[in-house]
Amino acid sequence: MLDKTKNDWKSLAAGLKIEGRAFINGRYQGALAGGTRATVNPANGQQLTDVANCGVEDADRAVQVARATFASGIWASMSPADRKTVLIRWAELIEDNADEIALLECLDVGKPIADTAGVDVPSAIRTIRWSGEAIDKAYDQIAPTPRDCLALIQRLPLGVVAAIVPWNFPLSTTAWKLAPSLATGNSVILKPASNTPLSALRIAGLASDAGLPDGVLQVLPGSGGSLGRHLALHDDIDGLTFTGSTEVGKQLMQYSGASNLKRTFLELGGKSPNIVFADSNLEKAAMFAAIAVFYNGGQTCTAGTRLIVEESIREKFVEMVVAQSRKWMPGDPLDPSTAMGPMIDAAQLKTVADYVEIGQQEGASLMAGGKQVMEESGGSYYEPTILDDVNNNMRVAQEEIFGPVMSVIGFKDAEEAVAIANDSIYGLAGAVWSNNINTAHRVAAAVRVGTMGINNYFGGDMTVPFGGFKQSGNGRDKSMHAFDDYTELKTTWIEFDA
Ligand code: NAP
Repeated sequence: MLDKTKNDWKSLAAGLKIEGRAFINGRYQGALAGGTRATVNPANGQQLTDVANCGVEDADRAVQVARATFASGIWASMSPADRKTVLIRWAELIEDNADEIALLECLDVGKPIADTAGVDVPSAIRTIRWSGEAIDKAYDQIAPTPRDCLALIQRLPLGVVAAIVPWNFPLSTTAWKLAPSLATGNSVILKPASNTPLSALRIAGLASDAGLPDGVLQVLPGSGGSLGRHLALHDDIDGLTFTGSTEVGKQLMQYSGASNLKRTFLELGGKSPNIVFADSNLEKAAMFAAIAVFYNGGQTCTAGTRLIVEESIREKFVEMVVAQSRKWMPGDPLDPSTAMGPMIDAAQLKTVADYVEIGQQEGASLMAGGKQVMEESGGSYYEPTILDDVNNNMRVAQEEIFGPVMSVIGFKDAEEAVAIANDSIYGLAGAVWSNNINTAHRVAAAVRVGTMGINNYFGGDMTVPFGGFKQSGNGRDKSMHAFDDYTELKTTWIEFDA
């Protein structure tokens, strides 16, 4: 798939059949009230298709179906080895249709095709395959009781789980939620982001083709404020898993408290520190400083948006990062050589441009970028942008911008670097660059984040948990730790006649 040219992808796109209906009880169907909503290609602002606009009545129907399916035991009581077979078959079917799904994701999100084909689709396949492979190796426990007792500690599925995901990594976050929730035997209702529902809808049909029983998985496109809120407040949903903004995450906790205390796990925003010491490999650090913030146009929860750099090398290092930033000039997402696509929509572009303005008013110096480009395309493209002379109290250092904007902050010693890194409401990710093993470990240990890189950024894979400290959330996606979010622990205490 990676050897295709821009023209190859364009002609594939022209012949693409796009499914926009909801997926309930094993079949595609329109919203009960008949409403639809346009989904738009961020690269040119043109409509891709109409998508079902599901409302509360669709949510209630999906919950009924999911509850009945869970109660039937057709999936929840299936042996883990048989669930594994279905999940692995599902991963294979996604692999068989990889080009089409990569294209859908590219058109729907505006992500470069090189990323959707090279990262998002392979990562979704690996996530589903890995969770399937793991589920029949996940042993339960027997407690160390007296000899006339036996105490079983078992993991049981929560029941009906709702998953709500964002627009920046629609396929990956969908896979991160569906793979462990389905592997552990739950029935699931997924609500994709309003503007990026297409890849989730497509892979739902493939799950059925792989043998997932009807009613185990429903995908409902619709608005967060009505459909999403209704799911989060629903008394017959046992668990809620969410990836999105901290603001909405806080509301979801309140909805849980206001309804049935459904287990609620959140993966939220970030303002991640990328700390560079003078004794690091500066070429490599500069290349990754750019990757850390410009990948996916900075619309990445773990983006390394605060470049915290030792004062003695600051000027030289910023020049090196400015040179790297030129490789990230935006382009047509269907061109395999494009590294960065458009912002998701015009509103996001305005947010980004406003922050760049605010940063300069607060005293930051614009070193690169700062402009909208490619306006004639109809898409919302913005240059990779670097703000120097940032102080950690400024809004551009504290607030998540969610665009290709780096804020550079200087430090004098390791203690100051750590203090700056930790001076944030967020705690999702970070990195430290140093060739001194003591400095690197000391700083990595002291920074309060869920994932910390030493001499790398965006390191990690399916074998390690992913999630945040502080207001970056409480759940963990990926690895066998993700199973914890979708299961209850049950003790059975058995006594024998001596
Ligand atoms: P968002 O506005 O919080 O939306 C996320 C999802 O929640 C969407 O499906 C949205 O529906 C829905 N939603 C909105 N309001 C809701 C409500 N009141 N009740 C229930 N659902 C509601 O986030 P976003 O702008 O799509 O995504 C960007 C954010 O996600 C950033 O903050 C980013 O850091 C975070 N993120 C975190 C991770 C992580 O793993 N930590 C990964 C990726 C992204 P609509 O689409 O209809 O609004």
